[in-house]
Amino acid sequence: MNQDLLTRYAQIAGEDAVEQLLQLASPLKGAHIVHVNSTRYGGGVAEILHSLIPLKQALGLDVTWEVITGEEEFFLVTKSMHNALQGFSTEIQSRALKTYEETNAQEAERLRPLLEEADFVFIHDPQPAPLIRFIPNRKGKWIWRCHIDLSRPQRSVWRYLRNLVTRYEASIFSMPDFTQPMPHLQYIIPPSIDPLTEKNKELSEKEVKKILSRYQLDPHKPIVLQVSRFDRFKDPLGVIRAARLARKFAPLQLVLAGGGAADDPEGEVVLREVEETAKGDPDIHILYLPPDAHHTINALQRGAHVVLQKSIKEGFGLTVTEAMWKGKPVIGGDVGGIKIQVVNHHTGFLVHTPEGAALAIRYLLFYKDKREEMGRKAHQFVKDNFLITRHLRDYLSLLLALKLGAHERIELETWTG
Ligand code: UDP
Repeated sequence: MNQDLLTRYAQIAGEDAVEQLLQLASPLKGAHIVHVNSTRYGGGVAEILHSLIPLKQALGLDVTWEVITGEEEFFLVTKSMHNALQGFSTEIQSRALKTYEETNAQEAERLRPLLEEADFVFIHDPQPAPLIRFIPNRKGKWIWRCHIDLSRPQRSVWRYLRNLVTRYEASIFSMPDFTQPMPHLQYIIPPSIDPLTEKNKELSEKEVKKILSRYQLDPHKPIVLQVSRFDRFKDPLGVIRAARLARKFAPLQLVLAGGGAADDPEGEVVLREVEETAKGDPDIHILYLPPDAHHTINALQRGAHVVLQKSIKEGFGLTVTEAMWKGKPVIGGDVGGIKIQVVNHHTGFLVHTPEGAALAIRYLLFYKDKREEMGRKAHQFVKDNFLITRHLRDYLSLLLALKLGAHERIELETWTG
């Protein structure tokens, strides 16, 4: 058990939070837990697993993280599927579905010994969902963890995927809006951030300034920031429009920072569209970052006056919680997981249009006191709801519920110091 890591979490999240984790982990000792997703870098799922795995290990749990791989064609079909599940009208050919299934069949061969023996398997998102079909002799309980906004999926694609995921013992969604009629248990577990990582740890003002100047940002002009993959669902063009409208009333510089993800083949096309729209504008900075730019993103979020996440579909939007943790009010699209993070007019603003975002930017740049007050509330809201300790507590409770069935109760003792 890595006591040092647990002590560091306790210092931020409280002794009670860590004590609960220890109690919940205790009956799970000896069980082998496997997580499977489709990229080790880029995007929220990888970000969470990088923290969750060491924390589970620190609690003495036996946990493994596997990443499935495939050819470009596989990631093209899974990205189309992702788009369709988030409501975009897309047609997926049966040949593409064949590639999807065949890649999973190959990966199942590679992972068979591990997956057959594991006591609990978490399969993240649609990419590895068919693995379950190819492991008929599985011993453990399998959970499908859906991170995407499934509130209004394209029906034909969801019907196909539903046939796969109903084979699982349970599924997990980030919020109630995403659940679907299914014959098994569905749990609501929102994601979280890790306060100890490079991305989220405290930084000195000097360090923040150093990074801002490295990217030639004007130290005298307020920064409006959006961090995200270059993806149409994140509406980068809407963000540019909002910033251009807002700056008629208040000087600002816009920073669009992001990179790609190994399982997202569309990023470059969207990046080119963004560059074209921003061409020649000295107050729009497009920063194409490598996947390990955590320190830079941390500094940008801390250096920003206002943070945007103007998505038009969003499973959760870790970037929202990341910015809130750093005391920033967030202007977010009124969609998906952003709705459970941004409490309208308290921890930020929920908007529907670039015009709405522009008004909110103008307000927050004008009223420093309000901005700081909302930022403080935002930080507290994350501390209460979206830290990794809460996330893991929910996962462990779910594993215990699956292990014990309805026969036993889980009782946690209150930590008394
Ligand atoms: N991120 C990053 N580099 C980038 C863009 C994003 O490290 O260039 C991180 C971001 O800080 C966040 C995660 O990737 O932790 C994105 O998660 P989110 O839920 O916001 O969106 P997703 O990409 O999963 O749709």
